[in-house]
Amino acid sequence: MKLLIVEDEPKTGEYLRQGLMEAGFVVDLARTGLDGHHQAMTEPYDLVVLDVMLPDVDGWSIVRALRHAGKDTPVLFLTARDSVEDRVKGLELGADDYLVKPFVFTELLARVRTLLRRGRTAVQAERLQVADLMLDLTRRRAVRADTRIHLTNKEFALLELLVRRRGEVLPRSLIASQVWDMNFDSDTNVIDVAIRRLRAKVDDAFEPKLIQTVRGLGYMLDAPDDQ
Ligand code: CA
Repeated sequence: MKLLIVEDEPKTGEYLRQGLMEAGFVVDLARTGLDGHHQAMTEPYDLVVLDVMLPDVDGWSIVRALRHAGKDTPVLFLTARDSVEDRVKGLELGADDYLVKPFVFTELLARVRTLLRRGRTAVQAERLQVADLMLDLTRRRAVRADTRIHLTNKEFALLELLVRRRGEVLPRSLIASQVWDMNFDSDTNVIDVAIRRLRAKVDDAFEPKLIQTVRGLGYMLDAPDDQ
């Protein structure tokens, strides 16, 4: 899941970026309205956290432009004042939710997760299942054969990507950009190391083995259909 934060206050922006990264998201931070507007229009984000008060292009103009262009990326507004007019204006322009500053990070994280779930309830379940492996997306938990599997945020994100794209060979470059937000450099083995750790938790003690290496191409998760 890739998020964009548009926030001109360096401390707040960095705090949000760090927190959301630790929660397992890939995060871009735009420090001006113009940058935020450009990135939101051109890059595929799953959600935008948008400060209303920006020195150049305000948050309202950005959400208006997004909706005008037919983009339905969920938008969480950050407003400085708890003013009814501000909230109504934001929601009328097409924002999905708002949070009044100052807020606690856990509340922002809860709102972000709710919006991401709402965005996919129509087409995707809150649980993903392959064979006896179950991912609970709401609680960020993995269970295999009734055994809870403890994963780090990055491991969960990697497993979620593999499960969502079950049966597809995922090149290392795609995994790198979706889970680590980095350009894949063939000198690093970060993906292979992460896959090895994930396998130790998800596959070593179980049958069938779900994570497969496709030599020269990448990784794939799949299970026989009769499972
Ligand atoms: Ca601001």
